[in-house]
Amino acid sequence: MTVRTRFAPSPTGYLHVGGARTALYCWLFARKHNGQFILRIEDTDRERSSEASVRAILDGMAWLGLDYDEGPFYQTERFERYQEIIDWLLANGHAYRCRCTPERLQQLREQQMAQKQKPRYDGHCRNLDVSPDEPHVVRFKNPLDGIVRFEDQIKGVIEVKNSELDDLIIRRTDGTPTYNLTVVVDDMDMGITHVIRGDDHVNNTPRQINILKALGAELPKYAHVPMILGDDGKRLSKRHGAVSVLAYRDAGYLPEALLNYLVRLGWSHGDQEIFSREEMIQLFSLEGVNRAPAAFNTEKLNWLNQHYLKTLPVETVAERAQMFFDEKGVAITFGPSLESVVALIRERATTLVDLVEHSRYFYEEFSDYDEKAAKKHLRPAALPALMAFFEKAQRADDWTKEVLHSLLQTTAEELGVGMGKVGMPVRVAVTGQGQSPSIDEVMALIGRERCLARLQRAIDYVKARADGA
Ligand code: GLU
Repeated sequence: MTVRTRFAPSPTGYLHVGGARTALYCWLFARKHNGQFILRIEDTDRERSSEASVRAILDGMAWLGLDYDEGPFYQTERFERYQEIIDWLLANGHAYRCRCTPERLQQLREQQMAQKQKPRYDGHCRNLDVSPDEPHVVRFKNPLDGIVRFEDQIKGVIEVKNSELDDLIIRRTDGTPTYNLTVVVDDMDMGITHVIRGDDHVNNTPRQINILKALGAELPKYAHVPMILGDDGKRLSKRHGAVSVLAYRDAGYLPEALLNYLVRLGWSHGDQEIFSREEMIQLFSLEGVNRAPAAFNTEKLNWLNQHYLKTLPVETVAERAQMFFDEKGVAITFGPSLESVVALIRERATTLVDLVEHSRYFYEEFSDYDEKAAKKHLRPAALPALMAFFEKAQRADDWTKEVLHSLLQTTAEELGVGMGKVGMPVRVAVTGQGQSPSIDEVMALIGRERCLARLQRAIDYVKARADGA
């Protein structure tokens, strides 16, 4: 048997992390078993579906590298097929036309509620001969007795009595098919062997199984993935901040990190935290998926992002960072190579956006010094060190980190002070900040001209401060 999984989003919003995790699990399961992964867009709710949402789903999946073997299939293009199946169900006694008015149904509901019963359709039209010409819906004839039983690959055995299920509407009065019908037809036609989806659908499964049985179709295996909670224990939603995959992309997260984060969000393999794509494919199993809901944890995502920023090839990180420099208007043409800056800065950044912010001084002049750093290190007492170093730097025959290092050192020695007393004022002078990677390396990258101008500016600044004091 070839494994075939599908991701079946409704394009009614962005691709959120819950959906992306479902897609990832479907994709992993298919890849692991050398099967096929199918993308199906469930766009039958035309009012709520949008092109923009389809775009966001496709872009999000492409960014995460979740490639599909078939699709995207659009349900709105399959209406004829759904009608064909509904007609077949009608012709074969598995469905019937129902002409109950909304008023009757409302009354029924109120009665049942008053009697503390679960509101459900009472089968009123089951044995009536409703003409196709009068307004009607089509209902599936759910078996009256027996039990629907299936072994959920994550939750274990689930059993529901047929007496608990009522006759589901499969075609509305306007002729459109409903969700449970379209899903069943598609899963059957597309030869889906494993339905892996969010557990908000677990109540639909017995109904879908009954329809599949009526159609004589082979039943897929089902795996319902527990939901994702926010850090407050409530279901993850917009309230908890970014939940859209593309929002993470735009905030400077790496797809490797988000993917790694998502795979661990509800699945584990021992206590391993870092998984390459290949490892995920190799190790993923539905048995490893937790039964309990998973809680979203931004700190862990940040940790993973940092891990990948530090460990991916420098060229890859630089390539990904490029668009963020462009976006933030940091022109990198007249400055050190992006790769050299990334190599130096990436240890300090959590996201690519962060990396740009930490790298600005390599490419552009800063307007102000960091207040605290200037107050502490650009004081009159720092003037001799700044001036002595400036003089040496002006005469330096080479502008490498080794040369700069030894200039800092000799300055400190000549003045009889520690390295920090020279290095810190120079750092603030050159970067505007109290923190940076090793200042000799930073200066080597920024280049002679820029550094000298900044040192001169700092000397003037300190002098002005001394005069003003
Ligand atoms: N379209 C459904 C949703 O987005 C998923 C249906 C399914 O996976 O069976 O919630």
